[in-house]
Amino acid sequence: MWEPVIGLEIHVQLQTSTKLFCSCKNSYGDPPNTNICPVCLGHPGTLPVLNEEAVKLAVKLALALNCRVNETSYFARKNYFYPDLPKGYQITQHRFPLAQDGYIKLRSGKKIRIERLHIEEDSGKSIHTENGTLVDFNRCGVPLAEIVTKPDISSPEEAVEFLKTLRLAAIYAGVSDGDMEKGNLRCDANLSLRPRGSEILGVKTEVKNLNSFRFLAKALEYEIKRQEKILSSGGEVKQETRGYDSHKGITFPMRSKEEAHDYRYFPEPDLPPLILTEAYISKVRSEIGELPWEREERYIRSFGLERETARVLCSEKEISQLFEETLKDFPDPKEAANWVKTDVLKWFREGHSVSPSALAKILNMVKEGRISRLQAKEVLEETAREGKDPEKIVQERGLLQISDETQLRSIIEEVMEEFPEKVEKYRKGKKGLLGFFVGQVMRRTGGKANPKVVNKILQEVLNGER
Ligand SMILES: [Zn+2]
Repeated sequence: MWEPVIGLEIHVQLQTSTKLFCSCKNSYGDPPNTNICPVCLGHPGTLPVLNEEAVKLAVKLALALNCRVNETSYFARKNYFYPDLPKGYQITQHRFPLAQDGYIKLRSGKKIRIERLHIEEDSGKSIHTENGTLVDFNRCGVPLAEIVTKPDISSPEEAVEFLKTLRLAAIYAGVSDGDMEKGNLRCDANLSLRPRGSEILGVKTEVKNLNSFRFLAKALEYEIKRQEKILSSGGEVKQETRGYDSHKGITFPMRSKEEAHDYRYFPEPDLPPLILTEAYISKVRSEIGELPWEREERYIRSFGLERETARVLCSEKEISQLFEETLKDFPDPKEAANWVKTDVLKWFREGHSVSPSALAKILNMVKEGRISRLQAKEVLEETAREGKDPEKIVQERGLLQISDETQLRSIIEEVMEEFPEKVEKYRKGKKGLLGFFVGQVMRRTGGKANPKVVNKILQEVLNGER
């Protein structure tokens, strides 16, 4: 009877080489407080200089998400005090953001509208230890794009699909690596419930810092149940910001509406308006490249792949690239797709990669009947794990399949001589015995016999066609 109304706020870290307003390195995992300078530490008298590359990446992302890019946008100061924000304010965009009115289309065809996309700087990182809190300012001033959706999302599944699609678009467009574990893509979700069919919005809560797809789904599921319980018993949901405890799988209150910050936004006096020409915007648009959903359509159109197969291939940019490269030496898209979406993807997700040329070699060996599919799986595994050349593995393991008819025929004759009564039974109609004979041939060849050829000869011989 209750309908969830969900909106998301997503921070995407832009993969520039330097920070948003200074020339410090934008890199993850360096020793704490090594990529810092007076500008990103907010020393008095320093001035920010806008990073052109960050603007370009943010525009790219905005266009990929179907937003309208504003030719003029402004920076603003968001004032608050926190130890990881040495300036005492964050430079962001407030009333006049970089881009507005975009959307992402879900598989169901439903459009989730994007209200705005703006550029802002990241804060540092607080590291809480037993002996107190440490602060690492390396992340201070790293460029972010913040994306705010309209409350168009109606379920945790839709929320996850939206976020996955957004992440993939950012990766394809070369805007961000979308690595959620490193915090390069972070998500806050707000949620309220209303009686199904009602137009009026209920009181919402916001859950902060959901850093995986699973946590996003779990936190929303928990919040739906929690609010349902309150509303169904006639209570009122309190407007507040909540955290998510991934160990307990619950959300918990962080601060209520009364405790909410007053950020006292005002225009950033140290930065001029950001003015982009139409020509610049169209140039950036032309550099976006193929987006995941476009690639998916092309695979269906040009290669005749099933939608689901195309979707799986495009779900990792590197995998789709590998697939297309493989086709250069193995021009059978359907067969290549079957291998890539199963075994190759499995090894990729476990951190092992196969080169397109190695994969094409293996697939060609299967096609030529030199190795069986089962053997190909083994070769693929060893190639993926150890980076060895497939030809070499086949030679070393003596894997080559026996397809030679004369050789197989003589083995088959041996089998028939050993089991004359079974041959008799087969010829009297017990056709199910065929499997037994195939099994015997396989045993004698250590599994190397080409099953197709064995089947063919066996039938000929047993049916007396020879
Ligand atoms: Zn700096």
